[in-house]
Amino acid sequence: MTARHGKLRQAGTRSASLKSRRVLVTGGAGFIGSNLVRHLLVRRPSWEVVNLDSLTYAGNLDNLADLDRHPRYRFVRGDIADPAAVRRAMAGCRWVLHLAAESHVDRSIEGSLPFLHTNVSGTGVLLEEASRVGVERFVHVSTDEVYGSLGPRGRFTERTPLSPNSPYAASKAASDLLVRSFHVTHGVPAIVTRCCNNYGPFQFPEKFIPLMILRALAGEPLPIYGDGKYVRDWIHVEDHCAALLRVLERGSPGEVYNIGSDATWRNLEVARRILDLAGRPRTQLHHVVDRPGHDRRYAIDARKLRRDLGWKPVWGFERGLRETVRWYRANESWWRRILTGTYLVRRRRAESVAVRRSARIA
Ligand code: NAD
Repeated sequence: MTARHGKLRQAGTRSASLKSRRVLVTGGAGFIGSNLVRHLLVRRPSWEVVNLDSLTYAGNLDNLADLDRHPRYRFVRGDIADPAAVRRAMAGCRWVLHLAAESHVDRSIEGSLPFLHTNVSGTGVLLEEASRVGVERFVHVSTDEVYGSLGPRGRFTERTPLSPNSPYAASKAASDLLVRSFHVTHGVPAIVTRCCNNYGPFQFPEKFIPLMILRALAGEPLPIYGDGKYVRDWIHVEDHCAALLRVLERGSPGEVYNIGSDATWRNLEVARRILDLAGRPRTQLHHVVDRPGHDRRYAIDARKLRRDLGWKPVWGFERGLRETVRWYRANESWWRRILTGTYLVRRRRAESVAVRRSARIA
């Protein structure tokens, strides 16, 4: 680290430590982000949470409707690739949990540019500002997809070489490397986490598990790519959130931590379980043309996180899947607003209230 950066960091750390325990979550209106915002507010009753989100198709303020008047929560609408928006949102924040991303592999195959904008440039802008103000922790939330695909055996460890196959995975791998470079060059106290596939409440209906659940409930065909023997490693979103909090508080800057809960399942098997849970016949399974560049198998080795930081998952996959099916059954109005597109209209109203509130708090 240079002397100039050392001084900046000291100044930044001093000013940040004078503030209350304020954490910036980027992408807090998405699936994992909204679960994480709630998790932080419940588990850390003295913390303030600022949520910076640009509200793409995947950002949904309905996910956080119960927090509308929460005194320790503030929503800021803004693009992480916009330095002015980032500067506003990061002001006074000690810690950053960076989740904002374009996250859907299929969409990255249709067009990669939004992925480069948000996942690469956006991460760069956040790192520049984090370096300038001297945040005390920057947790970059990444994915096991950066490691590419596995053969029939073995698991990804933190030392597995990066070998991304989709434009989504490549953009996340690029952002991981940017984070590393800001740690090495500018001394940003950054940590990278790489998690396996998440499932649970508030997941956008185009992702695999909610798509299967909604198709099953509607009595419609469940589309299975190729032979359905693609293997994914699943984690309940609450376990992921608990792991992120553990990494934020106890992780070592410069380290990478894999996050996973040892639940590898073939897609076909997951779809069958969902049909069983929904009380629907297996004849609803419908094989469709495969996704190009489809990774065959993911399996993540998260022993470092368990050993060094003492984290362990509490959800088993079977219970988690059962509860998730139950959640989608019980929250039809939430997903119906997405399927009909009305969440895009309703959120404008909620957003103007949030902006007025945030102006009062700031
Ligand atoms: P998501 O698509 O549900 O949510 C992404 C959020 O980011 C949305 O609220 C969206 O509005 C916001 N966003 C997008 N572009 C933005 C921009 N330019 N500026 C500000 N906000 C922007 O995603 P998710 O599934 O909740 O994933 C969150 C993070 O976790 C991502 O970084 C993803 O790569 C990572 N991850 C996800 C999984 C998974 O299974 N879902 C697994 C491992 C890692």
